[in-house]
Amino acid sequence: MKYLKSNSNPYSLVDIAPTISELLDIPMVPPDGKVMPEVIEYATTHGCQKVVLIIVDSLGYSLYRYFSESGGIFQNIRQLAGSGMVLQCRSTADHTTPAIASIFTGYFPTKHHIYATDDIYVERAKDSKNPKIKTILEWAHDAGRRSAVVIESHGADTFLDRVGKVSGVPDSQDIIEYDSKITDAAVEALESKPDVLAVHLRAIDRYAHRAQTWEELRYAAGTVDVNIGRIVENAEKGTLFMICGDHPIHAGEKWMRSASKAWVGERQDQLVALVVGAC
Ligand SMILES: [Zn+2]
Repeated sequence: MKYLKSNSNPYSLVDIAPTISELLDIPMVPPDGKVMPEVIEYATTHGCQKVVLIIVDSLGYSLYRYFSESGGIFQNIRQLAGSGMVLQCRSTADHTTPAIASIFTGYFPTKHHIYATDDIYVERAKDSKNPKIKTILEWAHDAGRRSAVVIESHGADTFLDRVGKVSGVPDSQDIIEYDSKITDAAVEALESKPDVLAVHLRAIDRYAHRAQTWEELRYAAGTVDVNIGRIVENAEKGTLFMICGDHPIHAGEKWMRSASKAWVGERQDQLVALVVGAC
């Protein structure tokens, strides 16, 4: 497996949207982020014409390595990484909404101003054509490409009429069931053969907040991997998978107490994992 150790100069979550734009030839106003040349080279070599972007909430770089090396889980993700790569990416925010907005738009939060879902409506009211709030899914749609998004219902509403296929799943106390429904919807969305599909899985983040033991967190991570396996199985050959965290798990002292020194140290960098691989 290829771990690119670019500690002095890791990529950023804002680099994902421009990389998809370059790869699929989707025009967009150049954002803050830069194209990741290794990803383009890999995707070109593997003949990838489509992208599935899976945001795994709270998939920090250290957590990914910890679970994949010591926990023996993430088998499906590791299989993708095996022919591809695992990159370190700097997160742009501590919390989900601004970080995901950076992933989708390619801009830092200081430019997109989206800190809560409703901010999207506020920013659009100011300037509906502002490219800093336009997501790669919308750029794709406007270029006549098929795009699809599968996220929580309230967030999904912001994409209505702007993206080819929008699937929302209502938030739930049972996050395992919620992720399972997200996965069902993602598999269904793949039937329409989108050029770019974005999916958000949340079990690790919810368990990081509510669970007390590493065993429980490992269980949540295992379900995420199973869901990713289902999505991969249903994707067309020649699909590039980009699987990334939005931010590392929130500081919670409970996780720090029992974690290794390396894990705690790397966590300070706000690094998340970006796994790139083709099916
Ligand atoms: Zn999050």
